[in-house]
Amino acid sequence: MALLSTTDFPHLIVKTEGFAHKRIDLHSHTSCSDGGLSPQTLIDRAANFQIDVLAITDHDTVAGLDIAQKHIQDKNIPLKLIDGIEISTAWQGFEIHIVGLNIDKNNLQLTSLIEQQQQAREQRAISMGEKLAKCGFTNIYADAKAMAGDGSITRAHFAKVLHQQGHVSTMQQAFDKYIGKKGSKGQRAYVKPNWCSIEEAIQAIHQAGGSAVMAHPIRYDLSAKWLRRLIVQFSEAAGDALEVVLPQMSPEQRQKMLAYCQEYNLYASMGSDFHYPNKWSDLGRNLTMPVGAKPVWALW
Ligand code: AMP
Ligand code: MN
Ligand code: MN
Ligand code: MN
Repeated sequence: MALLSTTDFPHLIVKTEGFAHKRIDLHSHTSCSDGGLSPQTLIDRAANFQIDVLAITDHDTVAGLDIAQKHIQDKNIPLKLIDGIEISTAWQGFEIHIVGLNIDKNNLQLTSLIEQQQQAREQRAISMGEKLAKCGFTNIYADAKAMAGDGSITRAHFAKVLHQQGHVSTMQQAFDKYIGKKGSKGQRAYVKPNWCSIEEAIQAIHQAGGSAVMAHPIRYDLSAKWLRRLIVQFSEAAGDALEVVLPQMSPEQRQKMLAYCQEYNLYASMGSDFHYPNKWSDLGRNLTMPVGAKPVWALW
Protein backbone atom coordinates (compact mmCIF):
# COMPACT_ATOMS: atom_id res chain seq x y z
CA MET A 1 0.00 0.00 0.00
CA ALA A 2 1.27 3.46 -0.87
CA LEU A 3 2.29 5.67 2.01
CA LEU A 4 2.61 9.43 2.03
CA SER A 5 5.51 10.57 4.12
CA THR A 6 6.71 13.92 5.40
CA THR A 7 10.28 12.81 4.79
CA ASP A 8 9.67 11.56 1.25
CA PHE A 9 7.46 14.50 0.35
CA PRO A 10 8.52 17.78 1.96
CA HIS A 11 5.07 19.21 1.34
CA LEU A 12 3.04 16.33 2.63
CA ILE A 13 -0.18 15.92 0.75
CA VAL A 14 -2.76 14.34 2.97
CA LYS A 15 -5.75 13.32 0.95
CA THR A 16 -8.48 14.62 3.16
CA GLU A 17 -10.70 17.60 3.68
CA GLY A 18 -9.64 20.17 6.25
CA PHE A 19 -5.87 20.00 6.57
CA ALA A 20 -4.83 19.15 3.00
CA HIS A 21 -1.20 19.93 2.09
CA LYS A 22 -0.20 20.39 5.72
CA ARG A 23 2.54 19.13 8.01
CA ILE A 24 0.78 17.72 10.99
CA ASP A 25 1.93 16.45 14.41
CA LEU A 26 -0.81 15.63 16.90
CA HIS A 27 1.18 14.45 19.95
CA SER A 28 3.82 16.49 21.78
CA HIS A 29 4.95 17.43 25.29
CA THR A 30 6.28 20.55 27.01
CA SER A 31 7.89 21.31 30.35
CA CYS A 32 4.34 21.62 31.73
CA SER A 33 4.64 17.83 32.01
CA ASP A 34 7.74 15.79 31.15
CA GLY A 35 8.82 17.54 27.96
CA GLY A 36 12.23 19.19 27.82
CA LEU A 37 11.16 22.42 26.09
CA SER A 38 8.97 25.23 27.34
CA PRO A 39 5.73 25.77 25.37
CA GLN A 40 7.34 28.81 23.67
CA THR A 41 10.48 26.90 22.67
CA LEU A 42 8.40 23.98 21.42
CA ILE A 43 6.36 26.33 19.22
CA ASP A 44 9.56 27.94 17.87
CA ARG A 45 10.95 24.51 17.04
CA ALA A 46 7.71 23.51 15.28
CA ALA A 47 7.81 26.76 13.30
CA ASN A 48 11.44 26.10 12.30
CA PHE A 49 10.41 22.66 11.06
CA GLN A 50 7.60 24.28 9.06
CA ILE A 51 4.92 22.39 10.89
CA ASP A 52 1.47 23.76 10.10
CA VAL A 53 -0.62 21.96 12.70
CA LEU A 54 0.65 20.96 16.15
CA ALA A 55 -1.19 19.47 19.10
CA ILE A 56 0.30 19.92 22.56
CA THR A 57 -0.77 16.91 24.62
CA ASP A 58 0.84 17.12 28.06
CA HIS A 59 0.21 14.43 30.67
CA ASP A 60 -2.98 15.27 32.60
CA THR A 61 -2.63 19.03 32.18
CA VAL A 62 -3.66 21.80 29.79
CA ALA A 63 -1.38 24.39 31.41
CA GLY A 64 0.88 24.79 28.36
CA LEU A 65 -1.88 25.62 25.89
CA ASP A 66 -2.53 29.28 26.74
CA ILE A 67 1.20 29.97 27.00
CA ALA A 68 1.79 28.41 23.57
CA GLN A 69 -1.15 30.22 21.96
CA LYS A 70 -0.05 33.58 23.37
CA HIS A 71 3.44 33.01 21.95
CA ILE A 72 1.97 32.17 18.53
CA GLN A 73 -0.02 35.40 18.59
CA ASP A 74 2.77 37.60 19.99
CA LYS A 75 5.23 36.36 17.35
CA ASN A 76 2.65 36.03 14.58
CA ILE A 77 3.73 32.44 13.91
CA PRO A 78 1.88 30.66 11.08
CA LEU A 79 1.02 27.57 13.10
CA LYS A 80 -2.34 26.13 14.06
CA LEU A 81 -2.27 24.90 17.66
CA ILE A 82 -4.65 22.07 18.48
CA ASP A 83 -5.57 22.08 22.16
CA GLY A 84 -4.82 18.63 23.52
CA ILE A 85 -4.12 16.50 26.58
CA GLU A 86 -2.84 12.97 27.28
CA ILE A 87 -4.82 11.32 30.05
CA SER A 88 -3.42 8.31 31.92
CA THR A 89 -5.99 5.58 32.53
CA ALA A 90 -6.02 2.24 34.32
CA TRP A 91 -7.15 -0.84 32.41
CA GLN A 92 -6.67 -4.45 33.54
CA GLY A 93 -3.47 -3.58 35.37
CA PHE A 94 -2.07 -1.65 32.39
CA GLU A 95 -1.60 2.10 32.05
CA ILE A 96 -3.32 3.15 28.85
CA HIS A 97 -2.91 6.70 27.56
CA ILE A 98 -5.88 8.46 25.97
CA VAL A 99 -5.14 11.61 24.00
CA GLY A 100 -7.84 14.26 23.75
CA LEU A 101 -7.60 16.49 20.69
CA ASN A 102 -9.38 19.71 19.81
CA ILE A 103 -10.72 20.04 23.34
CA ASP A 104 -12.25 22.99 25.12
CA LYS A 105 -9.52 23.27 27.76
CA ASN A 106 -11.81 25.13 30.16
CA ASN A 107 -14.61 22.56 30.18
CA LEU A 108 -15.73 21.89 33.76
CA GLN A 109 -15.92 18.10 33.60
CA LEU A 110 -12.47 17.96 32.03
CA THR A 111 -11.11 20.37 34.63
CA SER A 112 -12.44 18.24 37.45
CA LEU A 113 -10.95 15.07 35.92
CA ILE A 114 -7.61 16.87 35.61
CA GLU A 115 -7.74 17.79 39.32
CA GLN A 116 -8.47 14.17 40.23
CA GLN A 117 -5.57 12.97 38.05
CA GLN A 118 -3.21 15.55 39.55
CA GLN A 119 -4.06 14.26 43.03
CA ALA A 120 -3.35 10.72 41.86
CA ARG A 121 -0.01 11.91 40.43
CA GLU A 122 0.93 13.64 43.69
CA GLN A 123 0.03 10.64 45.84
CA ARG A 124 1.89 8.28 43.55
CA ALA A 125 4.94 10.52 43.56
CA ILE A 126 5.01 10.68 47.37
CA SER A 127 4.70 6.86 47.65
CA MET A 128 7.39 6.41 45.03
CA GLY A 129 9.67 8.68 47.05
CA GLU A 130 9.05 6.51 50.13
CA LYS A 131 9.82 3.30 48.25
CA LEU A 132 12.97 4.81 46.75
CA ALA A 133 14.08 5.83 50.25
CA LYS A 134 13.81 2.14 51.18
CA CYS A 135 16.11 1.41 48.23
CA GLY A 136 18.62 3.78 49.81
CA PHE A 137 17.91 6.94 47.77
CA THR A 138 16.77 9.81 49.92
CA ASN A 139 15.00 13.03 48.96
CA ILE A 140 14.14 11.89 45.46
CA TYR A 141 10.53 13.07 45.75
CA ALA A 142 11.59 16.59 46.75
CA ASP A 143 14.02 16.81 43.85
CA ALA A 144 11.54 15.41 41.34
CA LYS A 145 8.90 17.82 42.64
CA ALA A 146 11.28 20.75 42.28
CA MET A 147 12.10 19.65 38.74
CA ALA A 148 8.40 19.37 37.81
CA GLY A 149 7.70 22.79 39.32
CA ASP A 150 4.09 23.82 38.66
CA GLY A 151 3.73 21.13 36.00
CA SER A 152 2.51 17.53 36.11
CA ILE A 153 4.91 15.35 38.06
CA THR A 154 5.73 12.11 36.21
CA ARG A 155 7.97 9.10 36.54
CA ALA A 156 10.16 10.70 33.89
CA HIS A 157 11.11 13.33 36.51
CA PHE A 158 12.02 10.58 38.98
CA ALA A 159 14.06 8.79 36.31
CA LYS A 160 15.91 12.00 35.52
CA VAL A 161 16.72 12.70 39.17
CA LEU A 162 17.91 9.12 39.74
CA HIS A 163 20.10 9.46 36.67
CA GLN A 164 21.47 12.89 37.58
CA GLN A 165 22.38 11.65 41.04
CA GLY A 166 24.26 8.71 39.57
CA HIS A 167 21.97 5.99 40.96
CA VAL A 168 21.34 4.64 37.46
CA SER A 169 23.34 4.95 34.26
CA THR A 170 20.39 5.84 32.00
CA MET A 171 16.82 7.03 32.53
CA GLN A 172 15.62 3.76 31.02
CA GLN A 173 17.52 1.90 33.74
CA ALA A 174 15.54 3.80 36.37
CA PHE A 175 12.38 2.25 34.90
CA ASP A 176 13.95 -1.18 34.44
CA LYS A 177 15.37 -1.38 37.97
CA TYR A 178 13.05 0.71 40.14
CA ILE A 179 9.97 2.55 38.93
CA GLY A 180 8.79 0.58 35.89
CA LYS A 181 6.26 -2.19 35.75
CA LYS A 182 7.45 -5.43 34.29
CA GLY A 183 5.53 -8.44 35.50
CA SER A 184 2.54 -8.32 37.78
CA LYS A 185 3.95 -6.33 40.70
CA GLY A 186 6.42 -4.02 39.04
CA GLN A 187 9.94 -3.09 40.10
CA ARG A 188 10.98 -2.29 43.69
CA ALA A 189 9.78 1.30 43.73
CA TYR A 190 6.81 0.82 41.39
CA VAL A 191 3.59 2.27 42.75
CA LYS A 192 0.25 1.30 41.28
CA PRO A 193 -1.38 4.50 40.11
CA ASN A 194 -4.93 5.54 40.84
CA TRP A 195 -5.82 6.69 37.34
CA CYS A 196 -9.35 7.13 36.00
CA SER A 197 -10.92 4.56 33.70
CA ILE A 198 -10.80 4.63 29.90
CA GLU A 199 -14.54 5.40 29.91
CA GLU A 200 -14.10 8.42 32.23
CA ALA A 201 -11.31 9.83 30.07
CA ILE A 202 -13.28 9.44 26.84
CA GLN A 203 -16.37 10.95 28.43
CA ALA A 204 -14.52 14.01 29.73
CA ILE A 205 -12.85 14.54 26.34
CA HIS A 206 -16.24 14.32 24.61
CA GLN A 207 -17.83 16.68 27.16
CA ALA A 208 -15.05 19.09 26.23
CA GLY A 209 -15.99 18.71 22.56
CA GLY A 210 -12.80 16.83 21.66
CA SER A 211 -11.84 13.61 19.92
CA ALA A 212 -10.55 10.68 22.02
CA VAL A 213 -7.49 8.93 20.61
CA MET A 214 -5.83 5.81 21.97
CA ALA A 215 -2.17 6.82 22.23
CA HIS A 216 0.60 4.53 20.95
CA PRO A 217 -1.30 1.18 20.95
CA ILE A 218 1.94 -0.67 20.14
CA ARG A 219 3.71 0.45 23.30
CA TYR A 220 1.68 -1.38 25.90
CA ASP A 221 3.42 -4.74 25.50
CA LEU A 222 0.08 -6.42 24.93
CA SER A 223 -0.37 -9.71 23.10
CA ALA A 224 -2.51 -9.55 19.95
CA LYS A 225 -5.44 -10.97 21.90
CA TRP A 226 -5.20 -8.35 24.67
CA LEU A 227 -4.64 -5.48 22.26
CA ARG A 228 -7.81 -6.47 20.43
CA ARG A 229 -9.68 -6.57 23.74
CA LEU A 230 -8.42 -3.08 24.53
CA ILE A 231 -9.45 -1.73 21.14
CA VAL A 232 -12.90 -3.35 21.46
CA GLN A 233 -13.45 -1.75 24.86
CA PHE A 234 -12.14 1.64 23.64
CA SER A 235 -14.46 1.47 20.66
CA GLU A 236 -17.46 0.41 22.78
CA ALA A 237 -16.74 3.36 25.08
CA ALA A 238 -17.13 5.62 22.00
CA GLY A 239 -13.41 6.27 21.53
CA ASP A 240 -12.82 7.96 18.20
CA ALA A 241 -9.36 7.13 16.86
CA LEU A 242 -6.18 5.08 17.16
CA GLU A 243 -2.74 6.60 16.88
CA VAL A 244 -1.70 4.58 13.86
CA VAL A 245 1.44 6.55 13.08
CA LEU A 246 4.39 7.12 15.38
CA PRO A 247 7.92 7.70 14.08
CA GLN A 248 9.26 4.44 15.52
CA MET A 249 6.59 2.20 14.02
CA SER A 250 7.47 -0.30 11.30
CA PRO A 251 5.38 -0.37 8.10
CA GLU A 252 3.93 -3.70 9.30
CA GLN A 253 2.83 -2.16 12.60
CA ARG A 254 1.24 0.76 10.74
CA GLN A 255 -0.63 -1.67 8.51
CA LYS A 256 -1.85 -3.61 11.51
CA MET A 257 -3.11 -0.46 13.24
CA LEU A 258 -4.81 0.66 10.03
CA ALA A 259 -6.53 -2.73 9.81
CA TYR A 260 -7.86 -2.28 13.37
CA CYS A 261 -9.19 1.17 12.43
CA GLN A 262 -11.00 -0.29 9.47
CA GLU A 263 -12.34 -3.26 11.40
CA TYR A 264 -13.69 -1.15 14.27
CA ASN A 265 -14.60 1.91 12.21
CA LEU A 266 -12.15 4.17 14.01
CA TYR A 267 -10.39 7.29 12.77
CA ALA A 268 -6.59 7.54 12.64
CA SER A 269 -4.22 9.99 14.31
CA MET A 270 -0.50 10.59 13.96
CA GLY A 271 2.06 12.24 16.19
CA SER A 272 5.69 12.17 17.23
CA ASP A 273 5.13 12.00 21.02
CA PHE A 274 7.98 14.51 21.09
CA HIS A 275 9.52 15.04 24.55
CA TYR A 276 12.94 16.57 23.77
CA PRO A 277 15.28 16.70 20.80
CA ASN A 278 17.10 13.45 20.13
CA LYS A 279 18.60 11.49 17.28
CA TRP A 280 15.70 9.17 16.67
CA SER A 281 12.67 11.37 16.38
CA ASP A 282 11.61 14.97 16.20
CA LEU A 283 8.55 17.08 15.70
CA GLY A 284 6.70 16.13 12.53
CA ARG A 285 9.50 13.89 11.33
CA ASN A 286 8.76 10.57 9.64
CA LEU A 287 5.02 10.82 10.15
CA THR A 288 3.12 9.00 7.46
CA MET A 289 -0.64 8.72 7.18
CA PRO A 290 -1.55 5.48 5.43
CA VAL A 291 -3.75 5.93 2.41
CA GLY A 292 -7.15 4.53 3.28
CA ALA A 293 -7.15 5.80 6.86
CA LYS A 294 -9.79 8.30 8.00
CA PRO A 295 -7.74 11.09 9.60
CA VAL A 296 -9.04 12.21 12.98
CA TRP A 297 -9.08 15.85 11.84
CA ALA A 298 -11.96 14.99 9.49
CA LEU A 299 -14.03 15.18 12.71
CA TRP A 300 -13.16 18.86 13.29
P1 AMP B 1 3.96 8.63 34.32
O1 AMP B 1 2.92 9.31 33.47
O2 AMP B 1 4.18 9.35 35.61
O3 AMP B 1 3.70 7.17 34.50
O4 AMP B 1 5.35 8.79 33.55
C1 AMP B 1 5.57 8.07 32.39
C2 AMP B 1 6.41 8.85 31.42
O5 AMP B 1 7.77 8.47 31.57
C3 AMP B 1 6.06 8.51 30.00
O6 AMP B 1 5.14 9.42 29.48
C4 AMP B 1 7.37 8.62 29.26
O7 AMP B 1 7.55 9.94 28.80
C5 AMP B 1 8.42 8.38 30.31
N1 AMP B 1 9.12 7.10 30.14
C6 AMP B 1 10.37 6.98 29.68
N2 AMP B 1 10.75 5.70 29.68
C7 AMP B 1 9.72 4.97 30.12
C8 AMP B 1 9.50 3.56 30.34
N3 AMP B 1 10.43 2.64 30.11
N4 AMP B 1 8.30 3.18 30.81
C9 AMP B 1 7.35 4.09 31.05
N5 AMP B 1 7.50 5.42 30.88
C10 AMP B 1 8.67 5.86 30.41
MN1 MN C 1 5.88 11.40 28.79
MN1 MN D 1 1.98 8.21 26.36
MN1 MN E 1 2.90 11.34 25.07
